[in-house]
Amino acid sequence: MKLVIKFGGTSLATVKDIKNVVRIVDKISKNHETVVVCSAVDTITDELIQISSLIEKGNKKDINIMLAKISQKHKQFATHLVTNSKILKSLSNKLNSDLSELEELVHGLILLGEVTRRSYDYLISFGERLSIDLVSFSLQELKNKSVPLSGQEAGIVTDSNFGDSRPLMDTTRIRVSKIINEYFTKNTIPVIAGFSGADQNDHVTTFGRGGSDYTATIIASCIDADEIWLMSDVDGMMTADPKLVKNAKLLKEVSYTEAIEMARFGAKQIHPRTFEPLLPKNIPMRIRNSFDMNNQGTLVTLLHSKSTDSVKCVSAIRKVGLLDLTGGVLFAGPGAAAKIFSILAKNNINAMMVSSNPSESSITIVVRKEDLHKAENALEINLLGTTLKKIDTIPNVAIIAVIGSGMRGKVGIASRVFLAAQKSNSNVMMIAQ
Ligand code: ASP
Ligand code: MG
Repeated sequence: MKLVIKFGGTSLATVKDIKNVVRIVDKISKNHETVVVCSAVDTITDELIQISSLIEKGNKKDINIMLAKISQKHKQFATHLVTNSKILKSLSNKLNSDLSELEELVHGLILLGEVTRRSYDYLISFGERLSIDLVSFSLQELKNKSVPLSGQEAGIVTDSNFGDSRPLMDTTRIRVSKIINEYFTKNTIPVIAGFSGADQNDHVTTFGRGGSDYTATIIASCIDADEIWLMSDVDGMMTADPKLVKNAKLLKEVSYTEAIEMARFGAKQIHPRTFEPLLPKNIPMRIRNSFDMNNQGTLVTLLHSKSTDSVKCVSAIRKVGLLDLTGGVLFAGPGAAAKIFSILAKNNINAMMVSSNPSESSITIVVRKEDLHKAENALEINLLGTTLKKIDTIPNVAIIAVIGSGMRGKVGIASRVFLAAQKSNSNVMMIAQ
């Protein structure tokens, strides 16, 4: 079968981890046409982001220290991963070329003293550019043919919305399928840098944090993969966060719809748009642990949940705030909600949860905590005294999500949820279904 395997940064944190990843791919690629998608080596993306803020501050000394650290780490990994001198030489050349591109970019940005959205994306895409070199050449060491490809080289074309780009799927599909299938016919394992692509002007774009998941599903859709595996250091989707709930269990199967909710709310961080490319083609996904290949992980498919286990997962989002909006003279009737949400939208604030009462006198909205103040200000400037009479904010709240498609139409679940909340002495401020 055609398989896309994506490894997260935690699966690529040390030399030992990368060797493990390479062994997995080496074994699987003997029986399947395999594409590998990699995140950056653990922490590298964060370090690149730090470099970006140091550029803004003009702190050249610390920037050079950090660059040297990144360069040293990858070079050191290389010498531990590859022993064949010819392959090591090619790997060193490739790393050196990518690292000097990074250095040139950073020094250019230091001169300018600013990092635009465009150059920010270019900068933070380098973590993956470097990790794929390590993985691809290590696969060669095990006598595989393999090639490292940036998102752009793999054929991913996106819009120019830097930091949160989307693929132009028609063009991307044509390019990616041609490029990858050619490598398949040559028995070569493509190792693709997650997280980024390039717009139509060849400027590097990223999909936002955690975007390597999205890269993997984009590629899977383009080549009509039979399966996609997301590998990290957790066993799969759990019934609850195992750090909080001791008897949390692994979920063997969930539906796309449930997985989308769990990705948004759950302990397992998955890029929010990851499932989009899989839906039209119904490509099954497995979420697995690269450190425990005996475990089959969680299978995500179109599956319509059997009503036996109606609640599949309980999870929480912290760091959210609540806006309680009370209506003024112009509140009731059509248009008030539209005004409120268009102001939030104009300010790039995402309403995560909304509820309003039937008498139409108030609306309650949950937003990310860091957006709470901005939301309050924007609504105050634009609507207070007309549409709105009062704006209250509560900064310290959390959303508890109870997830499971089988809950639909079942009597008695809400009462158990509220009873549990009561038992833990928690005040329920708002509900949405
Ligand atoms: N390296 C990027 C990040 O840390 C993308 C990813 O890991 O998926 O956000
Ligand atoms: Mg990651």
